[in-house]
Amino acid sequence: MHAQYIIIDVGDNMTIDGKYVMQVSAVKQECPEADENEISEEFRRYEEEFLIPPEDALRSVIRKFQLASGKESNALPTPQRVEKKVNRFSELNSDDKNVTIEVAVITYTPRIQMVRGEEKQIAFGWIEDNPWEESSNRVRWDFKDWGQHSEHLSPNSVVRLEGVSVNEWNDKKSININRSTRVTVLREGNTSTIQLSNEPVNIAKISENEGFGSTIGRIISVKQDVIIKKDGSGKIDVFRGRIADSTGSIGFLSWVPFNFEEGNLIKMSNISVRKFRDTPEINVSNDSKIEIYRDNEFPLIEDLEHTTKSNISELRNGMRDISITVQIQSWEQRKFTSEDGSERIVRSGDVVDPSGRCRLTAWCDFNPEIGSFIKMSNSRVQFWQGSPDLVVDNSDQIEEISTAPWDSIDPDNHWVDVNIDELVKGGSRRGIKTSGTIVSVRKDSGIIHRCSECRRVLRDDLCSEHGDVKGIEDLRLRFVLDSGVSNASLLLSKEPSENFLNKKFDEIKKQISVSGSDGFITSLRGDLLSRKVEIQGRALIDEQGTMILAEKMDISTNSVPDDANNVIEKWGVIL
Ligand SMILES: [Zn+2]
Repeated sequence: MHAQYIIIDVGDNMTIDGKYVMQVSAVKQECPEADENEISEEFRRYEEEFLIPPEDALRSVIRKFQLASGKESNALPTPQRVEKKVNRFSELNSDDKNVTIEVAVITYTPRIQMVRGEEKQIAFGWIEDNPWEESSNRVRWDFKDWGQHSEHLSPNSVVRLEGVSVNEWNDKKSININRSTRVTVLREGNTSTIQLSNEPVNIAKISENEGFGSTIGRIISVKQDVIIKKDGSGKIDVFRGRIADSTGSIGFLSWVPFNFEEGNLIKMSNISVRKFRDTPEINVSNDSKIEIYRDNEFPLIEDLEHTTKSNISELRNGMRDISITVQIQSWEQRKFTSEDGSERIVRSGDVVDPSGRCRLTAWCDFNPEIGSFIKMSNSRVQFWQGSPDLVVDNSDQIEEISTAPWDSIDPDNHWVDVNIDELVKGGSRRGIKTSGTIVSVRKDSGIIHRCSECRRVLRDDLCSEHGDVKGIEDLRLRFVLDSGVSNASLLLSKEPSENFLNKKFDEIKKQISVSGSDGFITSLRGDLLSRKVEIQGRALIDEQGTMILAEKMDISTNSVPDDANNVIEKWGVIL
């Protein structure tokens, strides 16, 4: 792949006082008479001229100063050859070398360093530990690649790194990937998404992945905002806004003063795209460059407003500045005492549009009539029980509209048809109807016991959190549903299970006590495997895959067992 690189001059950054403090003190232990500045200079030389990180240069530097002082060189400390295998960054110390860890590569940005007029490539980016877990369970660190491993460090890939070292500077630890590091790709990434170029790309493209890049867009909105630091140490002034082109719109967050206004067409260079929850957002920092861009053909703001309009099926956790029209299905208000002791009211209800259903929460005095239509602007999305829900904070974000924007929806029977293939590619949704073939009946279907404290399922009569508790009986059915292309786990809780089996809990319990749980599973398999079913419910989609929580399941009347058997054969599903 031919790439354009960002050329930077890092000369000054490399001599920041104190950068090599740890290594200098290690050398001083061995060679107390050596001059600190000279030691520091030696590390700088290794790093800048030979691209050898200070951790790896340590032995050579100690040797140099020992020789200079006429000391025997056999007094050298034994090098750390022992491999340290860890699962989490938190297990690492600042002087660890020869570390083995599996990580997810989030970004990979090559840079050319000019060294004595010669171009040398290094790269930096973000990696996350615990790569097989969802991102809320991961920790993100910076890394530097000194060994030109770009081929094996694509964004979105999961790799095993063997022989990396830890670097610590200003209390912040990072990973050095060295020339000798072995990189094994465990899951392929997306090679086409490496953002090497500073050529602007359209907004749909820049929203695809986290990383660095440039784009051109018209400012749809911009306002000043403050971010309150979590540790209570103060506030940061920021600007938030949204830019759009004909391919879509994306929010931005500027950490530096932002002197442009609504309607301006701007080029944003050297910006980073990061995900806030599930939503990509442009971050503008000191390194970024924002300038007015001239293009008479570029769509006007009126022509771009549609890019900020959403429907319910498109909502994703973390979205902001959403314009959306919905119909109110139910509404209630609840008083509660907030943390500061004051009484607050939260209002919420179910809302629908032709694409689905979600909840709406209003933190303002808003009391709509059931069935009325409302248009919201600048609303935001937050997750509630795994589904994206709309939130409005001020009544001026809400407008009641008198004419129906669509043929009336019967909210009690509003299920939007989505096939599994489409479902797994999108975000979590409520109010969906789908169908597929049951290719597996999970063995843990049937009567289970839950913890009376936290409702977790007990294993060997123990709760993983609360230990030995009195279990509460519950019923559930678990399946794998397949479309032939995609699959999803399918879960029926007690009531839908009773309805589907057309038996009450006590009858099912009796059946299981007679036939045993294996017998129960065997009979379920006999009845259901290869059968096509229709489901109404909601879908939770995350890194773990797709889970459908059925409120209702029916055996499809036009079942095609042959197709199902083909599916089972093709995918080698274990029954
Ligand atoms: Zn528990």
